[in-house]
This record gives sequence, structure tokens and C-alpha cells, in this order.
Amino acid sequence: MIHDLHCHSTASDGTLSPTELVRHAIGQGVDVLALTDHDSTCGLEEARAAAGEELRLLNGIEISVTWGGRTVHIVGLGLDPDHAPLREGLVGIRETRETRAIRMAEKVEKLGVDDALNKARALAPGGLIARTHFARLLAQEGLAEDYGTAIRKYLLNGKKAFVSGHWADLEQAVGWITGAGGVAVIAHPARYNLTATKLRALVGAFRECGGQAMEVVSGSHSAQDVINMAVHVRNNGLHASCGSDYHGPENPWVELGRLRPLPADLPPVWDLLPAA
Ligand code: AMP
Ligand code: MN
Ligand code: MN
Ligand code: MN
Repeated sequence: MIHDLHCHSTASDGTLSPTELVRHAIGQGVDVLALTDHDSTCGLEEARAAAGEELRLLNGIEISVTWGGRTVHIVGLGLDPDHAPLREGLVGIRETRETRAIRMAEKVEKLGVDDALNKARALAPGGLIARTHFARLLAQEGLAEDYGTAIRKYLLNGKKAFVSGHWADLEQAVGWITGAGGVAVIAHPARYNLTATKLRALVGAFRECGGQAMEVVSGSHSAQDVINMAVHVRNNGLHASCGSDYHGPENPWVELGRLRPLPADLPPVWDLLPAA
């Protein structure tokens, strides 16, 4: 069984529509797919219709969280998108995204792109604007040779077009997910450049509010990251998840359903989800 429990559609910063994404997952032989758009569940209905009986679709989310002064991402799997506290919480985060987008557009205009907000909106058909859209815009306008360069040159913390956002608290995000009947998962933990001590603190706080799993295998994790993250899962009695973090065919180094296996001794997160 191929599980891919982290990916994005045009409902956030992916480039494939939910239908195209699900068709692509089926083509890749994925058996269980979780659509985990940033701070939005609005792609799920379309994805479910596209999945039919050919693939098991899990309702997912990737929530932006501010913890210890940095941004971390918490994935939710198997949740009810109509749960009111979750829905209202996500509305609040999307408002923060909108005000941040306005400020980010001002900075991007200072770099030499006119009408940056409207151009970014045109690249974001789902209505949610992420740094990803500004990076694509900067590349399109010739200010960087490609998307990855644009992110690194302008949009990471401390760079010219970076604007910080205050996202959900860890406790809120985990509470919304578990309240909606889902399982909370720390997304791509090796990406945060935390010391082992800080990561232990994050995992401790996450468990205290009801979090149960961590991505061990991720499109952005190296083989060594998998080994390191497995240690945290073992030491903290967590379950292990795996997801590509696919955003579309423009980043061919990450593909749906092409993941390293989870270390065999770790309990997989799908043991916590209802059977199909
Ligand atoms: P945002 O949630 O709007 O701050 O945007 C974060 C998104 O930007 C992530 O989900 C990725 O899609 C993208 N991103 C952030 N950092 C990087 C990076 N170092 N390389 C590639 N993409 C990145
Ligand atoms: Mn993204
Ligand atoms: Mn993420
Ligand atoms: Mn993601």
C-alpha cells in the first residue's frame, strides 16, 4: 500500500487542481492520499469526487503555527472539515495571510515588480496567498532565475521581501484538529533547523496538547533526517507519518507516492485512523 499523506493543490500553493492532483496520484499508484492544503480545506470536496473508488482520500490540512517565535506546520489527518472551531480558526489564519500578502506585495514592488498584489492573486486561483506565489511571481518577472532561488534570495526570514506572520498557537491548532476527529502530525520536523533539545521541547508541548504523530519520511527529508526523526518518534511514543509535500510538476524532485519506506519498527500513523 502506498500512502502519501501530505500534498498541496490550487486550494493553497500547489499548481494542480484537486482533480488533477488526485488523477496524478492514481497514476502514480497511490492507494491512500491526504490532501493537506495550507490553512484551507476547500479543495477536499472536489478531491473526494475525483477520487471515487480508485483511491482512498483522507481529509487533511496543514496549519501554520507560531511556536517559540518560529513558524512550524502541523498536519491534521482524517478530520471533519465542517467542525466549527476548525473552520473559524482557519478563517482567522487566512485573514493573517491576507494582511501579510498586502505587506509582502509592497516589499516585492520595492524590488521592481509593479502591481505585485494583483499579479500574485492571479497566480493563486484558490484565493489563498502564500510565499510560494510571490516566489513564482519573482521568477516570472525575471528577478530570480527560478522559484527556489526566489524563495532563498527574497522570501526566507531576514530577506528583503519577508514579512513575519503571527499564526495559530500550537495548542489551538492541535485542539482544532483533534476536536474535528483528526490526528495531529508535526510536518517535516527536520526542516526547522531545531537543535535536538528544541525539537524535544516542541514534541513535548505537542504531545501535551494531544498531538500523536510526526512525519519521519518527507519529500524534504534526507535519509539521515529519517534516521534522526525516527529516534524522536521512538523516544516519545509517537506514530510515524510519510508525505511527499508535493506542490506540482514544476518541482520534479518531489513526486507523489515516491517515498522512502518508514522504518519498519515505527507504528504508522494510519493505525490511528479508522479503517477504510
Ligand atoms: P507561507 O506558508 O506562505 O509562509 O509559505 C510557505 C511555503 O513556501 C511552503 O509551504 C513552501 O511551499 C514554500 N517554501 C518555504 N521555504 C521554502 C524553501 N526553502 N524551499 C522551497 N520552498 C519553500
Ligand atoms: Mn507550500
Ligand atoms: Mn510545510
Ligand atoms: Mn506542505
